[in-house]
Amino acid sequence: MTQTIETLIIGAGVIGSSTAMHLAKLGMTGIRVIDLDMEGTLSSSELNAGGVRATWVQPINIQMSKITIDYFAQVADEVGYKPCGYLWLHPESRWSPALQARERQLEMGWPVEAWDVAQLRNRVPFLDKTDGIAGAIFAPRDGLINPNLLKNHYREVARSLGVEFEDRTVLRETRYEKNSQSRVHAICERFEKVMSHETKLEIASSELKDLGRSKVEYHAQRVINCAGPWASRVANILGYSVPSQPVRRQVCIFDGRDVDLTPYGMIVDTSGVYFHPEAMNGLAGFANADEPAGVHFEYDGERFFEERIWPALYERSTAFERLKHVTGWAGLYEVSPDECGIIGGARSGIFEAHSFSGHGVMHSYAAGLALAEEIVFGKSKTLDISSLSGSRFEAGKLIHENLVI
Ligand SMILES: Cc1cc2nc3c(=O)[nH]c(=O)nc-3n(C[C@H](O)[C@H](O)[C@H](O)COP(=O)(O)OP(=O)(O)OC[C@H]3O[C@@H](n4cnc5c(N)ncnc54)[C@H](O)[C@@H]3O)c2cc1C
Repeated sequence: MTQTIETLIIGAGVIGSSTAMHLAKLGMTGIRVIDLDMEGTLSSSELNAGGVRATWVQPINIQMSKITIDYFAQVADEVGYKPCGYLWLHPESRWSPALQARERQLEMGWPVEAWDVAQLRNRVPFLDKTDGIAGAIFAPRDGLINPNLLKNHYREVARSLGVEFEDRTVLRETRYEKNSQSRVHAICERFEKVMSHETKLEIASSELKDLGRSKVEYHAQRVINCAGPWASRVANILGYSVPSQPVRRQVCIFDGRDVDLTPYGMIVDTSGVYFHPEAMNGLAGFANADEPAGVHFEYDGERFFEERIWPALYERSTAFERLKHVTGWAGLYEVSPDECGIIGGARSGIFEAHSFSGHGVMHSYAAGLALAEEIVFGKSKTLDISSLSGSRFEAGKLIHENLVI
């Protein structure tokens, strides 16, 4: 089966869905989004912690979050946005850079407070073990979102504007046609039946075989790589390279019966452990630096909680001494060499938006908007994304963002 379309987007996570929505809002037609797994068991958009913040060092990251969170505030009920704040606890070594970053965030119009330890104890009384804390940064418009609602919101708006989504469809091979409008021929495999997580994983990791009747060929003017942690693999199929890698990241749900976390938002401890309320429980995560790159979805279970999470929380509050592990899961960060996203043109007929290195939800609206403007107008009008081009790595123009978790 061969279909001629204008734009083929690979990946229907928050980035692919946002990009599709913005292209359609700008009047483009013939947009198709394919995904092996729209349900999302392989997708970071379904497996993340739901934190959104503009408390960054780099202006481009502050701007992308600001634009995105401003949009979340407009559709708050639909996407579950709660401006409950991010509270960063900083040790002495990071306090001065955090205060400098705050100056920039304020200059760029993002409200951020700096608290000394006495103010911290007053505002968040359950944090009663403050050893090692030099000060805290609190940004009241940062907060939490429901990533599943967000993904579906982008998809619904896109669908209402004519975008078509194809589930259980995986990109396998690409050919390029010279001197033709539909210059990219994307050969895909489509699966009829609902698949288990293991089967999807096997398919995502396997090579092209004889596709037989399951083959679908799209002839498109452009293809956009929005494959998240699979972006480097998809780039190889599209004939270029991406220097990013998938890295497993785990989060757990804990029962914190001695403290009510619901009045608070995200709290980032000096140890790097972050936590926030999750229904009647708490959700905590930690991005351990010793995690090897690769596609790994196994959750370490109680061991993750006992070794990585609970010791740090125990040191922060007497209310955390009796925490209990409930459950948890692992997903993939899509980590670029400077831990910032990659957005723009990749080669003739190919565009990309991926590698948000653990912060794609909070950049999703702005990333989709900027890329759509670049495609439609030849240049993004709302924000200058030239510093996020994939060519920056070869040119040695890396963006050094220090406030990554
Ligand atoms: C544990 C964890 C916590 C996180 N916490 C936060 C947070 O608090 N805040 C935040 O902003 N971000 C967070 N993130 C990061 C965030 O989830 C990601 O940056 C974001 O979801 C990336 O979205 P995406 O659309 O680029 O990728 P994905 O959601 O992964 O979507 C890519 C899609 O591409 C599809 N695909 C891949 N290869 C192919 C192919 N060949 N053919 C067809 N389809 C294909 C996949 O099936 C997948 O659905 C976290 C991530 C993890 C893992």
